[in-house]
Amino acid sequence: MDSNSGLAKQKIAVVGAGTMGSSIAVAFAGAGHQVLLKDADQAALDRGAANLDRIFAQKRKRGLSEQDAQIERDNISLVLDYADFASVDFVVEAAFETLEVKQKIFQELDECCHLDAVLATNTSSLPISRIASFTRRQDKVVGMHFFNPAHVMRLVEVIPGLDTSHETVRATLDLASGLGKLAVRVEECASFLVNRLLGRYMNESLWALQDGLGSVEEIDKAACDFLMPMGPLALRDMNGADIGLSVATYNFKEYGDRYMVPEILSLMVRENLLGQKTMGGFYAYDPETRKRNGENPALKPLLRSIPGHDEWTIHSSYNLDKAPDLFLPMINETFLIMQERICKPEDIDSAMTAGIGMREGPLALACKIGLKEVLRKLESAFEAGLGAGDKRYERFRPAPLLKRFVWAGRTYIL
Ligand code: NAD
Repeated sequence: MDSNSGLAKQKIAVVGAGTMGSSIAVAFAGAGHQVLLKDADQAALDRGAANLDRIFAQKRKRGLSEQDAQIERDNISLVLDYADFASVDFVVEAAFETLEVKQKIFQELDECCHLDAVLATNTSSLPISRIASFTRRQDKVVGMHFFNPAHVMRLVEVIPGLDTSHETVRATLDLASGLGKLAVRVEECASFLVNRLLGRYMNESLWALQDGLGSVEEIDKAACDFLMPMGPLALRDMNGADIGLSVATYNFKEYGDRYMVPEILSLMVRENLLGQKTMGGFYAYDPETRKRNGENPALKPLLRSIPGHDEWTIHSSYNLDKAPDLFLPMINETFLIMQERICKPEDIDSAMTAGIGMREGPLALACKIGLKEVLRKLESAFEAGLGAGDKRYERFRPAPLLKRFVWAGRTYIL
């Protein structure tokens, strides 16, 4: 690889031509890199080609000239084997999210790519250090986590494993910056930075619904009016309750009770109310237009079947108005992330803005509410829950670093 690797045009390979792989290939091709886009069989490769057609049609609609679209498209070669991988500088793996699939691919890449090539994975949840262990070049394996759709979303999280070298991290950050992305270094932890924070807020929206604090539409409206581009329950419907449950369960296993998964989510999966893909989730969908059509009537009976539904004990300190308390657990997690030195504190708000389109990040939000007030609200909710002897209130246990900020009389974070 060229020593000025971040700026020079490189030969890139993307493994997996699905949702992410296709759009990652387009992101690289748009920045002038030559890209091999590999999938496992012809049918999958054909789907990849259709993905590329769809993405370039969108880019044309947004103003890309026919000539430039052709140049970018010509930068991408669809392949079924590793024949041309020996000359590749940088690989991004974006295949199925199982350790077995990643193991096979990384072993193959380790055989086929030259020793200087960096092998990155776009995994959302699997440990980078584990994936690196499938190769004989653990210093050259790194997480490169794009957001969907990768050719549009501005954030890339770069996650070193235990033995990833400084050079590999630098080259990956430079390469991502060269795509016009905000590249943020994130230390290895479950769900990395943005999805770890997002997970707390997504769960909170379910607790708010389950505990009877608001209807589906009220909760989504509160979040959108305040600072989100889309309501959390509409987002859950878009991604699918099944995917949501598997991510939420993973976070719960990794982080414990503060990520406890509200029952409503498993009930929805059990009843096949998965969201847009089953034309019914939190919302009902018009079968003709596929547009949202009010709250799903199938939801109420499910909510009523949950013991304790509507028996929220701490109304006095929690509301959906003005600064919705839906964001309190996310803010609390932000202090844990700073405590663990997962990333530079100054990267947190910009990552949340670039990654999921928050109009204001959790640190700015915490200062706006007031750190003392954030702590007061968390303590009051946590203590009410302790009284009820219920582990779900662990999500309000104030982060020690937040307490230290307040004890020190600080009103700012950065
Ligand atoms: P997808 O199912 O749309 O695509 C996966 C592709 O990998 C398929 O085309 C499949 O044929 C191919 N594949 C499977 N085994 C292969 C092999 N051995 N060799 C080559 N290709 C193989 O999945 P996706 O949503 O694009 O996700 C891909 C990766 O990106 C996963 O690790 C996922 O966690 C991660 N990710 C997904 C998103 C998202 O929003 N979808 C966001 C960030 C990261």
